[in-house]
Amino acid sequence: QEDVFKKLVSHCKEYGFVFPSSEIYDGLGAVYDYGQNGVELKNNIKQYWWQSMVLLHENIVGIDSAIFMHPTIWKASGHVDAFNDPLIDNRDSKKRYRADVLIEDQIAKYDEKINKEVAKAAKKFGDAFDEQQFRSTNARVLEHQAKRDALHERYSKAMNANDLNELRQIILDEEIVCPISGTKNWTEVRQFNLMFSTEMGSTADGAMKVYLRPETAQGIFVNYLNVQKTGRMKIPFGIAQIGKAFRNEIVARQFIFRMREFEQMEMQFFVKPGTELDWFKKWKEIRLKWHKALGFGDDHYRYHDHEKLAHYANAATDIEFLMPFGFKEVEGIHSRTNFDLSQHEKFSGKSIKYFDPEINESYTPYVIETSIGVDRMFLSVMSAAYCEEKLENGETRVVLKLPAALAPVKLAVMPLVKKDGLPEKAREIMNDLKFHFHCQYDEKDSIGKRYRRQDAIGTPYCITIDHQTLEDNCVTLRNRDTMEQERVAISELNNIIADKVSI
Ligand code: ATP
Repeated sequence: QEDVFKKLVSHCKEYGFVFPSSEIYDGLGAVYDYGQNGVELKNNIKQYWWQSMVLLHENIVGIDSAIFMHPTIWKASGHVDAFNDPLIDNRDSKKRYRADVLIEDQIAKYDEKINKEVAKAAKKFGDAFDEQQFRSTNARVLEHQAKRDALHERYSKAMNANDLNELRQIILDEEIVCPISGTKNWTEVRQFNLMFSTEMGSTADGAMKVYLRPETAQGIFVNYLNVQKTGRMKIPFGIAQIGKAFRNEIVARQFIFRMREFEQMEMQFFVKPGTELDWFKKWKEIRLKWHKALGFGDDHYRYHDHEKLAHYANAATDIEFLMPFGFKEVEGIHSRTNFDLSQHEKFSGKSIKYFDPEINESYTPYVIETSIGVDRMFLSVMSAAYCEEKLENGETRVVLKLPAALAPVKLAVMPLVKKDGLPEKAREIMNDLKFHFHCQYDEKDSIGKRYRRQDAIGTPYCITIDHQTLEDNCVTLRNRDTMEQERVAISELNNIIADKVSI
């Protein structure tokens, strides 16, 4: 699986999907650029989300708020005081780690040990192996389980109480070593705020410390009454937004899974107090359906309901996707109560209550949030679509089985040879179709090589223009997944393809 992931990362670079940022200067940690195909796929993902949210729900509208916001917003939201990671340094390697991640990795090690025992026994006992029975009786498994559960409990308590000394003590007691130096020489644990800050205005005017937003949600909260009034929205209603967010992540690993500059697609749904848990349940279902509609297989998804809730939430779940490195969060769905709106009332001193004409009363709405990372979604789509296929002739082809609606290029237009008027005919077809969907013209190399290039970027259709085309106005249409070819009339192409590739 590690291998698949490495291949995927190099495929992303080789085919113009994702490049390390500032590469000629040796890159910048956890920052990436999207290339010519990546930007198309990313835009298509955003469109797929936007259309399902804003076009299909009459009571959801979109906004685009600024990245810079008044700094008091981040005081009110709790980010200045509480958006922290607990960090610990190893004195020998001088490397910095997240204390919580070190402990979570340790918990995972106990799980690994248990799984190893189970796998060993399964091999030994074959068909007669009863896993349940083995797990509940084997002494070594029971011992690992007891250690894991005790560690998990101690860790959860320390995190809930924000007890930094106890986190350090756990690391010492578990004898966790630095992966670089291999030593147990740990410093104290310190809190580290994840927000990037900068200064606005010149120092002569008195510069103001401002933050790069760590989430897009607050831009929605501070605008919700503007939108409600100008759009004459009635509760329940939602506001959607797509935009950049910034977090000074310390454990920046796994490619575009955890970045310092990333993009979010968030929707805040405002509801009447007391109805929030019903709406939470509804949005959980709607969002999972949206993911599954891409057709990667239902077994790629699962919910992870949170036991430990953030200070603002009364229910929370993640939608996890099976990445090459295991099930990982792609989207969070949170019932955020009226925490944010109440805080903004308190800190701004302005009333932002909603007047409900149905009950003739004003109240601060409760909020359900659905929040998904564009880049993580991109990674999930790429990892599910990446495929190496053995062909009948013994060759291997790499093909991205992207849903046609998300593919960067929808149709490749290829003259069989670069002469006899075939390029001119191909251009004529392309000039017509390019108004309807993204086409790419390719006349270089053999047809086989050209097909492979299109397979590698996930182009669902290719057409070949040959000598017969000049006589019968038909082309050969080749399907990416089945590799089947059929003869179709040029006049039919738009109908056939537009229907399959539209979002
Ligand atoms: P994690 O636990 O992985 O740090 P989170 O729970 O902090 O994520 P949220 O604050 O709920 O994440 O953000 C919502 C979504 O934004 C996540 O589900 C994820 O898809 C995306 N996201 C969050 N942080 C990053 C990041 N550093 N890089 C890329 N995407 C991110």
